[in-house]
Amino acid sequence: QDRVPGVESKLTPPATHIRESYKGSEKLKGKRTLITGGDSGIGRAVALHFAREGADVAILYLPEEQADADETIWLIEKEGAKTLTIPADVSDRKACDEAIGTVVETFGGIDVLVNNAGHMQGEREFTDTSDESWERHFAVNVHGPFYLTRAALKHMTKGASIINTTSVNAFAGAPVVTAYTATKGAIASFTRGLALQIADKGIRVNEVAPGPIWTPIQPQGWSAEEVPHLGDSTAMGRMGQPCELAPAFVYLACEDGSYVTGQTIHVNGGMIING
Ligand code: NAD
Repeated sequence: QDRVPGVESKLTPPATHIRESYKGSEKLKGKRTLITGGDSGIGRAVALHFAREGADVAILYLPEEQADADETIWLIEKEGAKTLTIPADVSDRKACDEAIGTVVETFGGIDVLVNNAGHMQGEREFTDTSDESWERHFAVNVHGPFYLTRAALKHMTKGASIINTTSVNAFAGAPVVTAYTATKGAIASFTRGLALQIADKGIRVNEVAPGPIWTPIQPQGWSAEEVPHLGDSTAMGRMGQPCELAPAFVYLACEDGSYVTGQTIHVNGGMIING
C-alpha cells in the first residue's frame, strides 16, 4: 500500500495493489516477464499479479526508486516468484539493450514485456512547455518502449506478448498534461502498427489504457486539492485502484488473450464509452 505524497485525502483510501481474493491459477507459469516501472503504482500491481500467476518477474525502475523496488521485490518473493531488479533509465538506449540482455541471461529468455514506466509533468499554460520537458516526455514514454521492444523482439518467440500502458488521455485528451498526452497517443499508434507488423510471428502487441488510478504519478500534473477529484469525471465517480487494472495485463499476457492483438483494453470507470 502507498499514499500519494503530499496529498491528505479522506476521499480515496491508500492504494491496493492486489486483492486478497485474487487467486492465481498458474496462467503465467514458466513465463519470463519484464515490467518497466515495476516498483510502484500500476507496475507494482502488475508485478504482483504476474508473480501470483507463476511468472518469473523482472522489474526495471529509476535507480533513485530503489526503496520502492526493494519493497516490491519483497512482496513478489512472498508469492514464490523468481525475481530480478534492474535499476535503469528507459530513455537510455544502451541501458535498455543491457536490461533485455540481463533478463534473457538470468531467466533464459523473455516472453512478456510490459512497457509501463511513465513520465508526466504538467504545465498550466501550454506555452510554458519547455523543449526539455517535451523531449523528456518523448524520451521516457516513447523512445524507451521502442528501445526495449526492439531488443526484446530479437529473443521473443511464438506466444510472446508485449503490453503497453497508455492512458485514457490518448483517447479523450486532458488539460494541463498535453506533452504527456501526445506521447500516449504515439504509443497507442505504435501498438497498432507493430501488432500488424509482427502478427505472423505469433507475437501479440496490445495496450491497457487506464483512467485515473490512485498512484504516486498523479501529483505531477495537478494540485493536492485537485488530485482526490480526478475520478469525478468518470461515470463511476471515483479513481481506480491499481488492483482493478492489473488483471487486464494478466489477460493480455497469458493464453486467454491468444486471439487479441493490436487492441486497447480501457479500464477507466466509464470515463469514456466506446473511445
Ligand atoms: P508511478 O509513479 O507509480 O509509476 C511510474 C513508474 O515509472 C515508476 O516506477 C518509475 O520508476 C518509472 N519511471 C519513470 N521514469 C522512468 C525512466 N526514465 N526510466 C525507468 N523508469 C521510469 O505511476 P503509475 O500511475 O503507476 O504509472 C504507470 C504507467 O501508467 C505510466 O506509464 C503512466 O503514464 C500510466 N498511467 C497512469 C495513470 C494513473 O492515473 N495513475 C493513468 C493513465 C496512465
